[in-house]
This record gives sequence, C-alpha cells and structure tokens, in this order.
Amino acid sequence: MLASDPRFTRAVRQRVLVTGGAGFIGSHLTRRLLDLGHDVLVADNLYSGARDNMREFADHPNFEFIRHDVTFPLYVEVDQIYHLACPASPIFYQRDPVQTTKTSVHGSINMLGLAKRTNARILLASTSEVYGDPTVHPQVESYWGNVNPIGIRSCYDEGKRCAETLFFDYWRQHDLEIKVARIFNTYGPRMRPDDGRVVSNFIVQALQGEPLTIFGDGSQTRSFCYVDDLVEALIRLMETPADFTGPVNLGNPGEFTMLELAEKVISMVGSDGAIEHRPLPADDPVQRQPDISLAEEVLDWRPVTDLDEGLKHTIEYFRGSDV
Ligand code: NAD
Ligand code: UDP
Ligand code: UDP
Repeated sequence: MLASDPRFTRAVRQRVLVTGGAGFIGSHLTRRLLDLGHDVLVADNLYSGARDNMREFADHPNFEFIRHDVTFPLYVEVDQIYHLACPASPIFYQRDPVQTTKTSVHGSINMLGLAKRTNARILLASTSEVYGDPTVHPQVESYWGNVNPIGIRSCYDEGKRCAETLFFDYWRQHDLEIKVARIFNTYGPRMRPDDGRVVSNFIVQALQGEPLTIFGDGSQTRSFCYVDDLVEALIRLMETPADFTGPVNLGNPGEFTMLELAEKVISMVGSDGAIEHRPLPADDPVQRQPDISLAEEVLDWRPVTDLDEGLKHTIEYFRGSDV
C-alpha cells in the first residue's frame, strides 16, 4: 500500500469527514482512507460530483454519504476533516460564481466551526490559483500572488485566498490544527467528460475524433499531477506534526505547454491530429509550475507518475466509460 510509511499512517482508526468526496479528487481520497481502515463520511451536494464516483465503495461498511451543502452548518462527530468541497473546473465554478465564493467562504467557516467544536484536525484543498497569473516562476509558497480581484476567475481564486485566511485566523485565534495544501493541476480517472478542464477535454475530443480545442496559441504552460500522487501527499500532509500548518505546494513540477499536451494526447490516442484554436479566456495564467521543495522536505514526497504514464491510465479510463 502506498501510504504504509509509519510516519504518515495512523495506527488508530479515525473518523474522517471528506467534504467534496463525491468529486474527482475526493472520491480517490475516500477510497484510500477506507483502504487505510478509517471510517469515512462524505458530505457533498453533488454540484459537480456524482454518486457514480462513489460506486466502488458505496457498500463499504466504514463508508457513509450525506447530501449536504457546506454553506449550511453541519453537526457530526469527527477526528479529521479533509475540506475539498468546491467546484474546481472553470466552467463549473463560473456557472454560479456567487455560490462558488459562498462555498469557499461560508463553507470554510462552517467546517472550521465544526473542527473547533470537535477538536478535529482540518485540511484545506487550496489551489495554485492563489498565485493568479504568477510573476514568480516556479511558484514558491512565500510568493503572495498576482490575482485579479474582480475578474471571471476571482470567485474561485479569491474564495480560496479567503479560505486560507480563515484557516490561519482560526489557527491563530482558536488554536486549531490546520493543514493548507496548494494543489496544482491534477488529472486522472473519474474526471467528468464534460468537466471542461484541458486534460479531460483533449482526451474526450481525441477519442471522439474531434479537433482538440486549444485556447489561445497554446504556449501557456501547466504542470500536471496524477491523482494517486496527489492523494498520497494529502494523506501525508494530514499526518504531519501539529505545528506544521503549510501552506505547502502539491503538484508535479513537469511543465508543459498546451500544444505539447495536445501532441501527446493525439499520439497516445492515435487520432487524426486536428487542432482548433479558440480565444484565450480572460485572466488565463500564462505559466504555472510548482516549487515542491517544501513538500519534499516535510512530507518526504514527490510525484512518481510521469505525464505519459498518467495520461495512459486516464485515456484507458475514458475509453472504458463510453465517451
Ligand atoms: P470536483 O468538482 O470534481 O469536486 C468538488 C466536489 O465538491 C464535487 O463533488 C462537488 O459536488 C462538491 N461541492 C461543490 N460545492 C459544494 C458545496 N457547496 N457543498 C458541498 N459539496 C460541494 O473537483 P476536484 O478536482 O475533485 O477538486 C477538489 C478540490 O481540490 C476543490 O476544492 C478544488 O478547488 C481543489 N483543487 C483541485 C485541483 C485540480 O486540478 N483538480 C487543483 C487545485 C485545487
Ligand atoms: N458550525 C458547524 N458545525 C459545528 C459547529 C459550528 O457547522 O459543529 C458552524 C456554525 O454554524 C457557525 C460556524 O460553524 O456558523 C462557525 O463556528 P464558530 O464556533 O467558529 O463561530 P460562532 O458559532 O461563534 O459564530
Ligand atoms: N485549455 C485549452 N483547451 C481546453 C481547455 C483548457 O487550451 O479545451 C487551456 C486553458 O485555457 C488553460 C489550460 O488549458 O490555459 C488549463 O486549463 P484548465 O481549465 O484545465 O485549468 P486551469 O486554467 O484552471 O489551470
């Protein structure tokens, strides 16, 4: 088992709440926590997640699901909270931007209030988007970012920045045990075919024999982390000593242009290679690459799945799911 390193694995069974556990990352995390022997409660309003993502562990005796919107209070008894609830794809988080900000702000206040009452440790799934369109490259945790506060991405970026603020104020003011993860672009099986993010879009388009849609000239970069690597890091982060709060960058430092990604997907799927350029959305970051020195040092972690291998698994998943 991957997380069998005793420094990062609790011997005692924990009652774990995963908000957003019906989503892409949350469902992989839930699976791993169940495998490690914990009791897992998923709270999710199914806004961008799906019951189907939880199918393979739905009957597990230690698993429970409640349909719940985290912008409303939640009273349960838990030892750990992984707070992931929030749509992550631009088309989903921009569909109802006010609800996106509420989810990050009100949702974090409620989950922090829950952690305070139950004395639970709480981890925030924050994002590389807190760096906005970064002027420091690669991005280090000490960089404060370059974020437009009034643009179409702001509901997500500023919502997460405020969530980080709330986490650190509850830590300073109420002595909570917090962990803040800044997650960089993550991909893998169980992304929605209509998710709108670049990896799923390209794979679905290539499998359907459609042209791959490249926004702008395709020279913008992203660094893609395979979901199993990310989940390993989240679990290690939760188990770090109480005085480690983060924020810590979690991602794969391999950096690719969208044109390079398109070429990889085309050659791996074996499609005809057609590409269609579309306008670049407003405020689309030009480059993004994590500096993961802190995660390497504190978590003794670095991703082990390179982009070719991760894409292979993801393409196999989409081939098998009739897209
Ligand atoms: P996702 O959209 O698949 O999952 C988010 C889940 O949260 C969904 O199941 C959705 O239904 C649920 N949700 C949304 N609003 C909610 C609400 N108000 N109450 C309860 N549940 C709600 O996205 P994901 O890629 O799995 O992302 C999970 C978390 O990781 C998010 O917080 C996201 O911001 C963060 N993150 C993801 C990435 C990435 O590349 N995937 C990168 C950085 C950060
Ligand atoms: N809260 C919750 N579950 C709990 C405890 C609190 O959802 O088990 C919510 C509660 O509704 C409140 C928020 O968390 O709005 C913040 O709680 P906190 O105790 O920090 O603040 P207060 O209740 O004093 O406003
Ligand atoms: N993108 C693209 N074609 C698509 C979807 C996205 O070229 O069909 C681009 C997008 O403009 C961005 C990059 O791919 O520059 C990553 O987009 P994604 O939505 O996956 O993540 P984010 O922008 O949030 O990092």
